[in-house]
Amino acid sequence: MNTPHFIPYGQQIIDDDDIAAVVSALRSDWLTTGPAVERFEADICSYTGARYGVAVSSGTAALHAAMFALNIGPGDEVIVPPMTFAASANCILYQGGTPIFADVNADTLLIDSAAVEAAITSRTKAIIAVDYAGQPCDWDALRTIADKYHLALVADGCHALGAAYKGCQVGTLADITVFSFHPVKHITTGEGGMAVSNDEELAARMRAFRGHGITTTANQREKSGAWFYEMTALGYNYRITDLQCALGSSQLKKLEGWIKKRNQLAQVYDAALANLASLRPLKRRAEVRHAYHLYVVRTPNRDEIFRRLRAKGIGANVHYVPVHLHPYYQQVVGTREGLCPVAEAAYREILTLPLWPGMTETDIERIVNCT
Ligand SMILES: *Cc1c(COP(=O)(O)O)cnc(C)c1O
Repeated sequence: MNTPHFIPYGQQIIDDDDIAAVVSALRSDWLTTGPAVERFEADICSYTGARYGVAVSSGTAALHAAMFALNIGPGDEVIVPPMTFAASANCILYQGGTPIFADVNADTLLIDSAAVEAAITSRTKAIIAVDYAGQPCDWDALRTIADKYHLALVADGCHALGAAYKGCQVGTLADITVFSFHPVKHITTGEGGMAVSNDEELAARMRAFRGHGITTTANQREKSGAWFYEMTALGYNYRITDLQCALGSSQLKKLEGWIKKRNQLAQVYDAALANLASLRPLKRRAEVRHAYHLYVVRTPNRDEIFRRLRAKGIGANVHYVPVHLHPYYQQVVGTREGLCPVAEAAYREILTLPLWPGMTETDIERIVNCT
């Protein structure tokens, strides 16, 4: 008998159309910031309903651009949840700001609005909320708090492309929303990211930040026949290539089908786990369209189940080590265990089971039988 195939927790799907799109970009005149970048930005805008999109080299670069555009600097505090990938908070440190961790709700692991409000001081400038696992946060509550205290609202939507909250697409709920196109996310450009916004000025600042703080691109200068350019801010080279964006636009055509498939597979998990008292899926809120980047369960026997799954070729994982517990944060930012007890308790119990659109119901049966 063959050994059963390894099931990773997430994986990209690349088809012939994707390959043809990249080949056609390779044969074109532009390899980097050209028409495919603009097309991908327009495609993501029309999909999410956001007005402006700035494509960059990673989701992390998009988060950094967002912090730059909002003028975050030394002395400024930005509120962020601990139950996320480190990049959600690192972007604050890149700009010299101070991350302030607000704990999450136990049932969803989404940022707790009451904890956000309690963390606000006279130095608070912005809130970064993470649509953890692909489920949108309580954006009505976050908007109310942001307006009340005149704070900027940023969505780390790296898990949530295609998700919606009360009928509004992720991408239109915060002042700036950030997406990642890393291969494990919903659609991929290899590496890549985008920041979207309805604010023209924020978008222009992020666009300049992507290219050294220079206000025009080489493409625009070529078109206008002018050589003159000026650097008006200290930006970075966070450009993404036309090759990558050609792949992104091609991938985006398949996103709706993939999100439906992720939701169907999540329902299969829900049904299979309903009879197991030891594994409890996170709560799904009624007012959201979940994008199911991750299927996360809580179990008191997490380490044992993790080992059993890995031994049987199932790529279970843990998302995440709470950011404030990373040694760098403890040493440099001075955060300590005890700061976010809900996230810390969840961290001992959470397990990510494989979920991506290439999986079958049989794969899920096999996974659940191995727990
Ligand atoms: C993936 C991810 C990022 C970073 O995206 P990259 O494209 O890998 O830089 C940031 N925040 C969250 C929540 C993520 O999952």
